[in-house]
Amino acid sequence: MLERLVAFDTTSHKSNLPLIEFVRAHLSAHGVDSLLVHDARGQKANLYATIGPKDRPGVLLSGHTDVVPAEPADWRTDPFVAAVRDGRVYGRGTTDMKAFCAVMLATVPRFLAADLRAPVHLALSYDEEVGCVGVRGLIEAIHSLPVQPALGIVGEPTGMQVIVAHKGKRCYQAVVRGRRGHSSLAPRAVNAVEYAAELICHIRRLGQKAATEGPFDDGFDVGHTTFHTGVVEGGLALNVVPGDCRVEFEFRQMPGTDADAMEAQIIDYVRTVLEPEMRAIAPETGILIQRIAEYPPMATAPDADVVGFAKYLAERNDHAKVAFGTEGGLFQRDGGIPTVVCGPGYIDQAHTVDEFIDLEQVTACETFMARLIDRLTCEPPLGRAT
Ligand SMILES: [Zn+2]
Repeated sequence: MLERLVAFDTTSHKSNLPLIEFVRAHLSAHGVDSLLVHDARGQKANLYATIGPKDRPGVLLSGHTDVVPAEPADWRTDPFVAAVRDGRVYGRGTTDMKAFCAVMLATVPRFLAADLRAPVHLALSYDEEVGCVGVRGLIEAIHSLPVQPALGIVGEPTGMQVIVAHKGKRCYQAVVRGRRGHSSLAPRAVNAVEYAAELICHIRRLGQKAATEGPFDDGFDVGHTTFHTGVVEGGLALNVVPGDCRVEFEFRQMPGTDADAMEAQIIDYVRTVLEPEMRAIAPETGILIQRIAEYPPMATAPDADVVGFAKYLAERNDHAKVAFGTEGGLFQRDGGIPTVVCGPGYIDQAHTVDEFIDLEQVTACETFMARLIDRLTCEPPLGRAT
């Protein structure tokens, strides 16, 4: 199953429909109906399928189908042909996160054969890698169904450790519109690169403030909100005062913090400090800030039922918090579904050249699914294992 999923080039900017149609046919061959939720252009789709009693809440298993780009010339073997060597499966998306999807789909016959007292809901999304875009439509569709999942497990790579929290993220583009001029007459122009630099320094100061004032949580690798500028483009030649500059920046906020307030601290600075200075020289100047992506943090109480449930399945008692984002925050915030992240493979393999997953991790995920079946055939099927 993993070989088949890897063979679909589902790089985010391409259609994922061939993969989705394959999965739909696989489920249909086992008598399981799928609900597809397409994007606006009909080029991509989410898939949702329920196995087991449909009148009761069950366990949502969620994976994304898209992968980040792979440059075949850099790879030892074709990134879209799964290659097994040295106890690993190599291929784009093996770790992030087609192995989880493959194990989930390969378990379908056993889900069907078991006398499930609560259902499993299989969810596959598109465009996760470009800002958790696709899953939003899926969450809306799930919301309109008569029965909602009781808890969610997002199978992003965690080495099968139960993850209870991650940060959120907001990404922005700022377009600085100055007034171009001859550099010998610099004071009569508005230097877009210099105002971009003022903005970048302001963002950096916000980051320094978050690092010294908190809030803190050492459960994360970096235990506070971070700010960062990643792209600057501007300027033509040294003897021209630049009229345009473009900046991309982000912040990654801790659970429980106010992302709107952080955004306001940036926009207020632009409106009240930078733009008045710029417009005093040239009224047509200004800074346009657009949010280009966002997802919320995830924070599930360590004593929540979903955490105990997932720990039972993973056969371990520890939990952790991670820096990377997942669809889990959206399932929690917009779907109202208590969610954890737990899946095979390690995040340091995600997005790399020669991405691989250890077969031992795939086996661990199979055990996780087998234990899920055991739990769902018990009474009561959900909640904390005793
Ligand atoms: Zn992923």
